[in-house]
Order: sequence, then C-alpha cells, then structure tokens
Amino acid sequence: MTKQLSTNLFILFALVVIVSGFMVQSNHSMATFHPRPSMDIDPLWADHFDFPVGKPDGDGYYNAQKFGENNHLGDDWNGLGGGNTDLGDTIYSMANGYLISAKDNGHGWGIVIMIQHYMKGYNKVNSLYAHCTEMFVSQPNQLIRRGDPIGTIGTAGGIYPAHLHFEMRHGLELPLGGGYSADTSGYLDPTAFINSHR
Ligand SMILES: [Zn+2]
Repeated sequence: MTKQLSTNLFILFALVVIVSGFMVQSNHSMATFHPRPSMDIDPLWADHFDFPVGKPDGDGYYNAQKFGENNHLGDDWNGLGGGNTDLGDTIYSMANGYLISAKDNGHGWGIVIMIQHYMKGYNKVNSLYAHCTEMFVSQPNQLIRRGDPIGTIGTAGGIYPAHLHFEMRHGLELPLGGGYSADTSGYLDPTAFINSHR
C-alpha cells in the first residue's frame, strides 16, 4: 500500500465516522424535538387554558370544594342552582391536548376522562374530569381541542349530588388515587393554574 493510498483510505474512514456521527446526532435531536412519540410533527400545543364548565370562564358554576380544602386534590364544580340542577351539563376540555383514557372506574369515581396537554418548553400537564354521566371521547391519543365537549356532569352512579371533580397534575404517572390527600406532590391547584394561563 502506498503512502498516498493509505492516506486516502484514512481520510475516507474519517469521513465515514464523521457522517455517521451526524446521522446519529440528527436522529437523536429529532427524537427529543418531537415530544409526541407516535407522531412525526409538533403536537397541538396548549397555550391557553379555560375552565371546564360554563366555558370559557366558569359562568353559572361555583367551586364547592377548592383544591386543598379538606385535603381535596382538585376542584368540585357545581351549578349555581345546587343539587342535581347541573346533572348532564356539558364538560369541556380545558385546553388542546390528547386523550389518555376515558372509562368507568367504578365506585367512588364513575367515568373518568384524562387528557394530556403539551406546553411549549415541553412541559406536560394532565387534566382529569371525574364522576361523569357520559363521555364523548374514547380513542386513546385522539386530538381534543380547547372547548371541545368531552362528557357530561354526573353523580358517579348516584353516590354524590351531581358535580364535576376536576384535577390537574404535573406528575404524569400518578395513579388515579383517592381524590383526597395531605400529600399534594404531583398535583396542581387547577383554578390557580387556569388563572395564570388564560
Ligand atoms: Zn372532588
């Protein structure tokens, strides 16, 4: 092998190493840039959050048990008329997002709808809507826009006066839980969050 040939081979080898390094690098940056694992495009960002009843401002409803009251992990939205006057009222998605799940979780919870919202900077938050009578969404990962009807207010099978138990979480892997706890890690105060993200 001449010196010239071995130099050329060395340059070729170096080029292959550099190019393959770039390919790995670009695959890596694509994977981190696009937060939706199954999609090749940016998600529908959630850049504006509304109240989940009486859209967009909660008109006609009051928060009967605020986050933190009695160790409550969410807000309880009730119609101003009290009792079951809000039974069957529409619940709206608080922001753009993707459905995690919508299903009947049985005693104490009833139908629970959970949506994941992607915020720029790649923070994600989940919203949870519980005790529903009906659900209008069911397909995991289905795209839901802010203000879309997702279900109706219920009684969790008759065990409560009708209301919407509404939680927000930044702990994305938290189990369904019990709705009450002194430990609020992973949970957000929904009303405070909405008011600072209008
Ligand atoms: Zn509640």
